[in-house]
Amino acid sequence: MNDSESVHAGTIMVSAGSHTDVGLVRQVNEDSLLAEFPIYLVADGMGGHQAGEVASAIVVEEFARLVGRDNLAVEDLHEALEEAGDRIGMISQDSDERAAGTTVTMVVATRLHGRGYWIVMNLGDSRVYRFADESLEQVSIDHSVVQELIERGELSVTGARTHPYRHMVTRALGAGPAQMPDYWTIPAEKGDRLLVCSDGLTGEVEDSIIEEVLAEIEDPQLAAETLVELALKNGGRDNISVVIADATDVILAESASTATALTSIVDAEHLE
Ligand code: MN
Repeated sequence: MNDSESVHAGTIMVSAGSHTDVGLVRQVNEDSLLAEFPIYLVADGMGGHQAGEVASAIVVEEFARLVGRDNLAVEDLHEALEEAGDRIGMISQDSDERAAGTTVTMVVATRLHGRGYWIVMNLGDSRVYRFADESLEQVSIDHSVVQELIERGELSVTGARTHPYRHMVTRALGAGPAQMPDYWTIPAEKGDRLLVCSDGLTGEVEDSIIEEVLAEIEDPQLAAETLVELALKNGGRDNISVVIADATDVILAESASTATALTSIVDAEHLE
């Protein structure tokens, strides 16, 4: 996105950081991530004999095809998701092991009618948070057994951390029939900071601490590494993945038209 002539009104200028770690207990890192404009994605794979690792890597491969495009629509994302789902379904057919599956959670920077937007997609229990105006807000809603219990008033957010079913997802890509993701569209503002992370972070680090780190550490790469370190310090019982996307600017439609207007005034004066 360095060529200023190719920047359209509404384009979000993004500075990103990312980090992943196998953790202190698991043998394999089955998480995969992608942090290249305009896709900021975490996939948390599941299934025996490296099936999870392969499933999450397939998601990254399919979405990597969309890298560099600044006006993606939900349809483009849904198409890539279906392609990844088909491929994961095929590896599950070839295996006698537990079916391969993965969460798919992302923020996509896009523009519509000269305005910048984030598209948020979630399938499973990885999460998207937005940090803006000094406060952290969870955007995505987990597809998990504990989330359903919380919504029914049968479990507290604190209780969910230690619940025996805390790793059970109710939707995922490739595993079982329920594969429909949720989508949100959020108008982008300069200064927005979006966090995408696997449950290896949120299972170990409380939201209030995540908020502090995002408020204090300006550099997205350093902030991502710090969050992963905190999860390790608290036990690192799962693979940990963190992607941070900062909107350093959102190109305004007004500034483009003002520039054009000034140019024509100058030209008119030259003619006289
Ligand atoms: Mn996980």
